[in-house]
Amino acid sequence: MGKVRLAFAAAAIIAACGKGETGNGSGAYDVILKHGWVVDGSGNPRYRGDVALRGDRIAAVGFLAGAQARETLDVAGLVVSPGFIDMMGQSEINALIDNRVFSKITQGITTEVTGEGGSVAPLTDQLVLDDSDAMKKWHYREDWRDLDGYFAQLAKQGAALNIATFVGATQVRLAVVGKANRAPTAAELERMTALVDTLMEQGALGLWSALEYAPASYSKTDELIALAKAARRHGGIYASHMRNEGVRIDDALNELFQIARDAEIPAEVSHLKVSGRKSWGQMPRIVARIDSARAAGLDVTADQYPYTRAATALDASIPSWAESGGWDSLLARLRDPATRARLHDEMVNPKATESFYYEAGGGDGVLITGTFQDSLRYLQGKTVGEIAAQRHRDPVETLFDIVLAEHGHRTDAVYAVMSEPDVQTALKTWWVAVNTDFGGVAPDGPFGTQSAHPRAYGTFARILGHYARDLKLFPLEFAVRKMTALAAQRVGLSDRGLLKAGMAADITVFDPVTVADKATFEQPHQPSVGFAYVFVNGQKVLDHGRLTAARPGRGLRGPGYVPPGARGTK
Ligand SMILES: [Zn+2]
Repeated sequence: MGKVRLAFAAAAIIAACGKGETGNGSGAYDVILKHGWVVDGSGNPRYRGDVALRGDRIAAVGFLAGAQARETLDVAGLVVSPGFIDMMGQSEINALIDNRVFSKITQGITTEVTGEGGSVAPLTDQLVLDDSDAMKKWHYREDWRDLDGYFAQLAKQGAALNIATFVGATQVRLAVVGKANRAPTAAELERMTALVDTLMEQGALGLWSALEYAPASYSKTDELIALAKAARRHGGIYASHMRNEGVRIDDALNELFQIARDAEIPAEVSHLKVSGRKSWGQMPRIVARIDSARAAGLDVTADQYPYTRAATALDASIPSWAESGGWDSLLARLRDPATRARLHDEMVNPKATESFYYEAGGGDGVLITGTFQDSLRYLQGKTVGEIAAQRHRDPVETLFDIVLAEHGHRTDAVYAVMSEPDVQTALKTWWVAVNTDFGGVAPDGPFGTQSAHPRAYGTFARILGHYARDLKLFPLEFAVRKMTALAAQRVGLSDRGLLKAGMAADITVFDPVTVADKATFEQPHQPSVGFAYVFVNGQKVLDHGRLTAARPGRGLRGPGYVPPGARGTK
């Protein structure tokens, strides 16, 4: 009884200071989820209990017999957990184009973290101009230049889920240095760090690099350390798609450790993997290396998606030096026979850099999933090997032909680069969180005609169903902790990730018996099943597989956020 009274007291305090709450403040709740299995995100064993919401907050958790609410939902037999946090969401633009963010909500995701290398800010007039074809094709407008501006646009258009973002190291470089393969001057580096300072004050979570891709691959370690120090001044962390994920992954880890040490910043290995057949079986050793670094005092963690195939751009197969100067330069190099021959040779006999093409075992391991040009749509769903065979042409030459035919636009591809035992080793690791690494899509939305990677729809359900329940790789509670509290704590979203009075009312309710992923590489646009309800900021966005009309998602600010009126005072 004392517990309940305390919960009411806490709820009353929150109601008193909360804004825009819909509760009547007299002790009744807006929603009660009754008789569920509470899996609270801490990793503790589930228990039978009720969860009450008022306004956008969790008002009480536990034994709430007799409590009244506007809406009571009997969730007996179902798991009630904090809403899932996608550590690499990629929906910052997708959400503006289709604010349902359907593939995310239907697998229980309520917050996504985004900004891998490229981010919504900073934007310059030139960078916006570079996006003009994409804006025309997908019907959106980049009217903002900074993070305040992006969040304002997001609020205006609404979204089903919350979005938090890093500032991309690539984005800062693009804004100041452009696409050239050179180091920034001292003055440029000063402008870059100032941009990081500004965006951290506007609520970025930290600095995120994607070093395998041009022009980020032109960044040297000292440049990244300088930017990471700026992020850390505001409480941010450093995340990285590392420079190498295959035979040179140790060099890449060394660089990440050095940045963590020299900038005194927590570091996150993004989509942890060992890529390429030559490296398969290395994951236990890589996990052990990170454990040793942690034991030696570095704050290093990781996240991953639960599939053996990666998805990225087709041109990512081409050595990144060829993209110096941007798309036009790449296309000119592919048209020059001597340069083209040299690129061909480096892709089949990689020396300095690793090639997705090589790591996928050649053209048969590279599946085309999305073309920008409608005239090339017939290539979707075919491997580069299949297309080459049909054309009686060499597969590398075929890949070059496709890149040229896109006229400087991105072709999406899926690469078979990982082994299942390595994926499972990472999944079982307690400091590895979860990401989809795929923007929100919907079968009946604008992206429904593009192909996709099954991780877009299936990631979280696959871990709960396939790996936790069916393969018994770990308890459900372990899986939920990875998807909630671990992620929230890592990026500094201090009022999310746990089912506790006072926390934001982001809640996912699913059936542990039926939760499952349905998306496959052949049929990726299949929503996951087994999700009864999803609440975002106290509002129901999913009801038994169907999206509601609510779009309560918000732009979430990181630990360094300073409200506009208080900036520049320290
Ligand atoms: Zn990546």
